[in-house]
Amino acid sequence: MEAPEFQLKGIQKRETYQRMNYLCQASHLVFLFSPTLSRFYAETMKKTAKKLVLRMHPRVKKLICKSCNALLVPGVTSKTRIRGKREKHIVVTCLQCGKFRRQRKKHGPQKHKTLVDNSER
Ligand SMILES: [Zn+2]
Repeated sequence: MEAPEFQLKGIQKRETYQRMNYLCQASHLVFLFSPTLSRFYAETMKKTAKKLVLRMHPRVKKLICKSCNALLVPGVTSKTRIRGKREKHIVVTCLQCGKFRRQRKKHGPQKHKTLVDNSER
């Protein structure tokens, strides 16, 4: 007997999250030996999330360059500066492609929740 469609989708999403987790870990692991392979894993993770319309955790999302998919390791592949000209914010610049990302500097803990956080509680 086949499971209902909504159960299949739940299982499919859980497997995709597991795959994304694996790809993220693999990307970090091979980063020192092969930056190209690391970038490939990160790109695959992004594509996998996009295909099933899943959210990446904000912390994971901020680790990957939007333009070249390189891992943003502070001091190695990215530089991080605090700017306070208009509103205090953090600028993370990718040293591979030069693309930068502004992050608002927030006070207190951030309240982001992904689908996995919501479903487990
Ligand atoms: Zn980049």
